[in-house]
Amino acid sequence: MRRAIYPGSFDPVTHGHLDVIERAGKLFDEVIVAVAHNDQKQSFFTLEERLALLRNSLDGRNRVQVEPLDGLLVDFAVQRKATAVVRGLRAISDFEFEFQMALMNRKLEASVETIFLMPKEEYTYLSSRIVKEIARLGGNISNFVPSHVVDAFARKQKQ
Ligand code: ADP
Repeated sequence: MRRAIYPGSFDPVTHGHLDVIERAGKLFDEVIVAVAHNDQKQSFFTLEERLALLRNSLDGRNRVQVEPLDGLLVDFAVQRKATAVVRGLRAISDFEFEFQMALMNRKLEASVETIFLMPKEEYTYLSSRIVKEIARLGGNISNFVPSHVVDAFARKQKQ
């Protein structure tokens, strides 16, 4: 059983994340999408909303689980018997941080490998941050996120 963890904030899930999950699904028997609960990083959607939006996007895929992530990623990986951490790599700008994280995680836990997957070219410029910015300014985000995420923004903005 080859299991991978795909960690992130997913605030909210985008087509870029879903593309990475799809690719990881071809390499692993099970993928656990681990949604970081981070008190230091203020999120737009709550943890529960981010989990629900992801689960909704992955409906019907029984080899992909969505779970909250609290604490150290490598501890979670060992506890869930995962052999790899998957991260998406979009551009050079992602590289430095990802490289540092991967090597630090290896120092903390040598049994867990980090692997990087590149999304479809059209998603390389896509990030949750940019989607939030466009939504805040009233732009159309329907090409970047699933339709229920568009609806979630509309509901949130009415609150
Ligand atoms: P974080 O807050 O940890 O950056 P994100 O939820 O933004 O988490 O992203 C989680 C992972 O998905 C990261 O590895 C990030 O590089 C990757 N990712 C985000 N957007 C895309 C995208 N458009 N294409 C490929 N990978 C992506």
